[in-house]
Amino acid sequence: MNTLEDRYRQLRQRIANAALRLNKPEPTLLAVSKKHSSAAIHELYQLGQRDFGESYWQEADAKLNALSDLNIVWHFIGPLQSNKTRPIAEHFAWVHSVDREKIARRLSEQRPDHLPDLKICLQVNIDREETKAGVLPEHALALAKQVTALPKLKLAGLMCIPAKTDPAEAFQRMAGLQAELKQAGLSADTLSMGMSDDLELAIAEGSTMLRIGTALFGERE
Ligand SMILES: *Cc1c(COP(=O)(O)O)cnc(C)c1O
Repeated sequence: MNTLEDRYRQLRQRIANAALRLNKPEPTLLAVSKKHSSAAIHELYQLGQRDFGESYWQEADAKLNALSDLNIVWHFIGPLQSNKTRPIAEHFAWVHSVDREKIARRLSEQRPDHLPDLKICLQVNIDREETKAGVLPEHALALAKQVTALPKLKLAGLMCIPAKTDPAEAFQRMAGLQAELKQAGLSADTLSMGMSDDLELAIAEGSTMLRIGTALFGERE
């Protein structure tokens, strides 16, 4: 029981079981395909998977091309430099890693008119780690307002990569931030949080999107 198909079915089952047990809606599974092949993505697509996440444009470019006839929803989840936003704005449906206004403004300007609004999650540095990207929690609301005001972007919600110490508590604070945004009248239905080790904790706190790579595809090269 260790093929890609087996791992996919087991993971879907684990997510469904957790949602049922916790009495929460089942989150979307975002299959993080960075450092994995187009062939593996294609195989998961045939099993019904639609949302895939990539972290580096240089690597994603070839895969998006190779798989362009499929109905894949591509999510960009990697680090963003303001001089490298154009291909992201042109080729992705979602960006999860927006953490400053300059990046948002460039994505807005570079989003082609014929495409629907680019869905944006703000990456929150929820545990205030020096090594991690993300807007600090106390600045998330202001950034959310700026994103909301920009054309061709649609604020979807918040994303985080918590520290290992206490992810449950970090997820709880993310849910609190989401509530703050909603109280301010902003759209923030998405909480992109939870990976293979902590997906049950994330679902318990209201995750709507789980980002999972290794547990699905196996180890990266
Ligand atoms: C790589 C990555 C993941 C998936 O990590 P795995 O350990 O392979 O499951 C999730 N989120 C982000 C932002 C990532 O960069």
